[in-house]
Amino acid sequence: METYKVLDIQFEHQGSLEHIYPVLLLGGSDTVLVDCGYPGFMNLIEAELQKQGVSPSDLTKIVLTHQDDDHMGAAKEFISKYPHIQIAASSMETPYIEGREKNLRLKQAEELQAALPEDMQEFGKQFCNRLRQVQPVPVDLELHDGDCFDWGGGCKIISTPGHTPGHISLLLPKEGTLITGDAAVVEDNELVLANPQFCLDIEEAGRSLANIKGLVCRQFICYHSGIFRI
Ligand SMILES: [Zn+2]
Repeated sequence: METYKVLDIQFEHQGSLEHIYPVLLLGGSDTVLVDCGYPGFMNLIEAELQKQGVSPSDLTKIVLTHQDDDHMGAAKEFISKYPHIQIAASSMETPYIEGREKNLRLKQAEELQAALPEDMQEFGKQFCNRLRQVQPVPVDLELHDGDCFDWGGGCKIISTPGHTPGHISLLLPKEGTLITGDAAVVEDNELVLANPQFCLDIEEAGRSLANIKGLVCRQFICYHSGIFRI
């Protein structure tokens, strides 16, 4: 039986077609969606789930790899429509996802705003406003490095800090598959850091990337670039 499905969510952004790749974990005691897109993306994800033969109401958990708007943005929409869905995230990301601490990406963007050249000021402002629109959600299950679940036929939480302090990836040992989140992206047939300029701690992100590359995996599912097989 298939234990996971990669969802290809396509959307237009500033005139070009972009993709994100949330992952669905099947076959355990939970039906788990790993990351859920920008604010307003629930409909896109629901449509893709249905296309793949899964009813969105079958979801029991959403795992958020980290606090960024493209990963947690639609979480509030999902739990409003499907109140039985539980949100899971690392304990370190939890205060940000719950809105008890200021979102670190927004903090970073506000700090950078002053240094932006004149012609980028408007872009910077819009970026900050976009981040302010992300709705916080309560975290029902806090995750830690090494935690194991039966999701997707067996799943281990791997701490991959750097992009954000509490970023996690999900290892499916039986499948030899790692769901990287934003800890890695594929460029020129190689796993590299996703948007290094956005890494909140670039050295930590480098160490996490090295750890990822050291795992015995046949495939890596990167949120922004899709499946990479080796
Ligand atoms: Zn992302």
